[in-house]
Amino acid sequence: MSDTGALVYVVDDDTSAREGVADLIRSAGLTAKTFASAEEFLAAPRPKTPSCLVLDVSLPGLNGLDLQQQLAKSNAQVPIIFLTGHGDIPMTVRALVFRKVRDLRYEDVRMPECAAAEALVKVRAVGICGSDVHGYLGTTGRRIPPMIMGHEFSGVVEKLGTEVTRVAAGDRVAVFPYVVCGRCSYCHGGRMNACPDKRFFGSNHFFS
Ligand SMILES: [Zn+2]
Ligand SMILES: [Zn+2]
Repeated sequence: MSDTGALVYVVDDDTSAREGVADLIRSAGLTAKTFASAEEFLAAPRPKTPSCLVLDVSLPGLNGLDLQQQLAKSNAQVPIIFLTGHGDIPMTVRALVFRKVRDLRYEDVRMPECAAAEALVKVRAVGICGSDVHGYLGTTGRRIPPMIMGHEFSGVVEKLGTEVTRVAAGDRVAVFPYVVCGRCSYCHGGRMNACPDKRFFGSNHFFS
């Protein structure tokens, strides 16, 4: 047993993984406490000693990412180490989410999938448009929460769909905020801004 009072919590629904990690922690002279679910962990009393949490990502009921959010909301200062046996689990990124009028929150959201004709851009710099401000204030019909606003951004290409040839991973790009059909007479004439099927990033004509 450790005499520092420090605790390592292990939350994993897989018994052998949970006990294996706990054994490893104990062999290093630390105290481990194990839980089979996020709910069990939340219900247990947590003494005010230095602690950290070794957390499985995929759990029945509340998953590891949900638990991380709950702890953040309750201001629990517990560092988290995520464990997962599933390399294909969608990972998260941080985004400013428009929850309701005058309520924007910085949250973990799922990293977008990259379709065949799309590129995934890691955003590095953004502008705030006047229309985003109107959205935040609830004076436009084009920002319906919950959603991620923003259409003035630049960044670095992180990932490419299989059909993309015009940009490469690592390219620095500024993003044209319309997604257009590419087939109509306006698109062919170079007037993509007039495409009747255009959609617009960061408005409710696009991702919600
Ligand atoms: Zn704008
Ligand atoms: Zn078009």
